[in-house]
Amino acid sequence: MKKTDEKTIAIPLPPPVTFVMERLEAAGHHAYAVGGCVRDHLMGRIPGDYDVTTDARPEDMQHIFADCRVVETGLKHGTLTVVRDGMNVEVTTYRIDGAYADGRHPDAVTFTDRLADDLCRRDFTINAMAYAPGQGIVDLFGGQEDLAAKRIRCVGRAIDRFSEDRLRILRALRFASVLGFACDDECRTAVTAGMGLLDRISRERIYAELTKLLGGVGAAGILGEYAPVLAHVLPPLTTEAVRCASTIYANMTPETPTSVRYAVLFDSLDEGGAARTMDTLKPSKDEKRAVMALLSRRGNVETTRYGVKCLMRDAGDAFPRDYAEFASLTGRIGADEAEAIRHTAEEILAANECRNLAGLAVDGHELAARGFRGPEIGQTLASLLDRVMRGEIPNERDALLAETEDRNG
Ligand code: ATP
Ligand code: MG
Repeated sequence: MKKTDEKTIAIPLPPPVTFVMERLEAAGHHAYAVGGCVRDHLMGRIPGDYDVTTDARPEDMQHIFADCRVVETGLKHGTLTVVRDGMNVEVTTYRIDGAYADGRHPDAVTFTDRLADDLCRRDFTINAMAYAPGQGIVDLFGGQEDLAAKRIRCVGRAIDRFSEDRLRILRALRFASVLGFACDDECRTAVTAGMGLLDRISRERIYAELTKLLGGVGAAGILGEYAPVLAHVLPPLTTEAVRCASTIYANMTPETPTSVRYAVLFDSLDEGGAARTMDTLKPSKDEKRAVMALLSRRGNVETTRYGVKCLMRDAGDAFPRDYAEFASLTGRIGADEAEAIRHTAEEILAANECRNLAGLAVDGHELAARGFRGPEIGQTLASLLDRVMRGEIPNERDALLAETEDRNG
């Protein structure tokens, strides 16, 4: 088998991974760490998870790990998850993916005894390397060269790989963005030519890839270069609007939150349009709310101390910081004003000033005991909170109750 002869490369694998690989080998099988973990190690990044690939069949694996904690969710596709020391190690049988009738999932998978077949099915050269201690890196497609050149290149013909599994189009852009790489010419052409293929893949999967893409160090560059692809995926966003967002992305930091990134991307849309586009991606309620909280505050926002407390009351303690970043990135406020908002927010938090109903010194039960009923309770609490936030009355139980009439006579 062709491989690099750099036996000197030794990847320090975590003990649970070594355990799994040694168990498989002791049973007469081959085992390799594979995919993202090898790529990340070679780049000096900390891998998110570890995958092991092996010639052992699922039934062999069940036997070999019979005394271990395992999760059998992917067994039909050859995957067994071994849980050890709190770590999940996914072990998958070498596999050839069958035809892809649906443009996303192989109709059938075939197990194979050859590592090369398994590496062949993987999407990009940098994701198609395997590693075993003592044997070194198995790199059949020039993955290390592409890592060095910061290049996303498909294993095989890009257009074929994208028609097999359309999600790979977005994965290419996601990896390029997250790793700060560029697609090679063939991949770039195939991404643009194949963007129509993205119409038929699940929006949840698009959302997951898109969120990682937008958070990448190279997001500004990818949005600029592939603006038509992003616009295609996110109607009614226009190519021009995505290009415009890309210039703003250039001023973000690695800490810029996801909600701010989406709000900047959707800034050309009105609130209704943005909400509808968000909805198509099937975000969680909280994720959507965080983005819409920003987009619904594109008009005048009071940035006094009271105004900052209102932002906290309506969208949470961390929101003024996100608002300040969004508003300054998009030129709605200046850097000084953004800093003032952050500073005020910190002061409010440090002094634990009342900014929501949970912090108010009276609650609904107390008002009910004093004869308040139904919607009156909520209205009275809201009005007391507002006056406390404005500094008109102190946040003290007696003072607050003195402001409310006792309905019991
Ligand atoms: P990360 O976990 O950091 O997002 P990763 O490379 O581990 O990156 P995963 O989605 O976890 O990505 O997939 C693990 C490996 O499985 C990949 O490195 C790749 O070899 C292969 N793979 C995953 N998805 C596909 C796909 N759609 N087509 C081909 N190969 C894939
Ligand atoms: Mg992974």
